[in-house]
Amino acid sequence: MFNETEHTVFLPHDRLGALLAAIRAGGWQCVGPRVEQGTIVMAPLAEDEDLPRGVQAEQAPGQYRLGTDAKRRHFAWANGPQAIKPLIFAPQETLWRVARDADGRLAFETVMPDAPKLAVIGVRACDLAALALQDAHFLRKGRTDAHYGARRAQLFLVAVQCAVPASTCFCASTGDGPTPTVGYDLALAELDEGFVAVAGSAPGRAVLHALGLAEASPVQIAAAREQGDAAAAAQTRRLPGRDLREALMARLKHPQWDAVAERCLACGNCTAVCPTCFCHTEHDIPALDGASSRHEREWDSCFGETHGHLHGFNVRPDIRTRYRQWLTHKLAGWHDQFGRSGCVGCGRCIAWCPAGIDFTAEVAALTGASGGSGMEER
Ligand code: SF4
Ligand code: SF4
Repeated sequence: MFNETEHTVFLPHDRLGALLAAIRAGGWQCVGPRVEQGTIVMAPLAEDEDLPRGVQAEQAPGQYRLGTDAKRRHFAWANGPQAIKPLIFAPQETLWRVARDADGRLAFETVMPDAPKLAVIGVRACDLAALALQDAHFLRKGRTDAHYGARRAQLFLVAVQCAVPASTCFCASTGDGPTPTVGYDLALAELDEGFVAVAGSAPGRAVLHALGLAEASPVQIAAAREQGDAAAAAQTRRLPGRDLREALMARLKHPQWDAVAERCLACGNCTAVCPTCFCHTEHDIPALDGASSRHEREWDSCFGETHGHLHGFNVRPDIRTRYRQWLTHKLAGWHDQFGRSGCVGCGRCIAWCPAGIDFTAEVAALTGASGGSGMEER
C-alpha cells in the first residue's frame, strides 16, 4: 500500500456506498464483513450500511467478544473466524459424478462450481498473505485445482489496513501485516473522516477512476502510514523467528508436546479457522440403486483420528503427535514445500481454540524464546 507509483486518493466515508456501487457496476457481487451471531463473518453485502461500523472485536486465547468503537469506523476490528479461504476452497463440494448406463458403461462428469465475479471487501494483509500461500498449493504448475482456480480467477480484493490489531495478532513478526503491500485490487486505510485509497491492479484503477476522487493530502497519507506503524508496534504476541524449521525439528521429543496434548481437545477448530490450512479428504457417495455416485471433497484436519491412518496402522495415534504435526508442518515443513512458514500471524487459532491454547506461547515454550508471546494471558 502507498505505492509511490500509484495515484493515492481520498474516499470520504459518505462515498463508501458509491465505491460498492462502482464495484457492482463492474459486475462483481460484494461480500464483506457483517455482524452475525456475535461475531464478524464474511457474508453478502447489499449496501455499505451492512458493514460493522462502530464495532471492535476483543480477542484473547479462547475468547472473542464484540465491543464498540467510539470513532465509529467501519474496520476498527482485526478479523473474524473466516478469511478468504472458504470463498474459494469450499468446505464441502462435489468434484465429479459417475453414472452407469443400461449396458453397464460408466460415464464420468466433472462438476464445476458456480464461480461468480466476487469482490471481497475488508481483506486484511494477513489474509492476502494466506491467499498467496493457498495459491502456491492449489495453483501449482501442472497440478492446478480447477475448482479453486475457477473461483480464484473471479476475485476482486479490497484490502484494508489494520489499525486496531487484536491481542491475538502477530502478523508484524511474520512479516505479513498489518498494512497490505501486495496482492490487492484496491487498498484502503481508514482515518476518522474517510479512507486513503490506492489501486493495485487495472480493474482497481478503473473502479477508483469511476469515482472521480480527489488526491489524498500529504497529511492524510502520513497519518495512514503512521497508524500502520503504530498497529505493528502495538502487537504483543510474536513468533521468535521467520524460519523455525531447525529449532522445531530438533525438539520432536520435547516434553511440551505432552503438556499441550493434556489441554488440546483435538477438535480441529484451529485448522478450520486457519487461512492457510488446505488439508482435505475425498470420498464417494453412491446412490442407493447403485446406478450413480458422486465424489465429494471436504475440509479435513490433522487433529482428526483418520488423518494419520495408513493401511493397517495410524502414524499419529494420539493428540501429542497430532498437535506436533500441526505445528511442525505449519512452521517447519512449509519451508520445504513453499519456501516460507505457513503461518501469517492472524491469531485465529488462538482466539477460536476452546482450550485457549496459544500458538505463540507453545512455540516460545518449545524453543525457549522469551518475551512478546503473550504468556501473561495463559
Ligand atoms: S497458524 Fe494460527 S496464527 Fe498462523 S495463520 Fe494459521 S490460524 Fe493464523
Ligand atoms: S489446539 Fe485448540 S482448536 Fe486446535 S485442536 Fe486443540 S483444542 Fe482444538
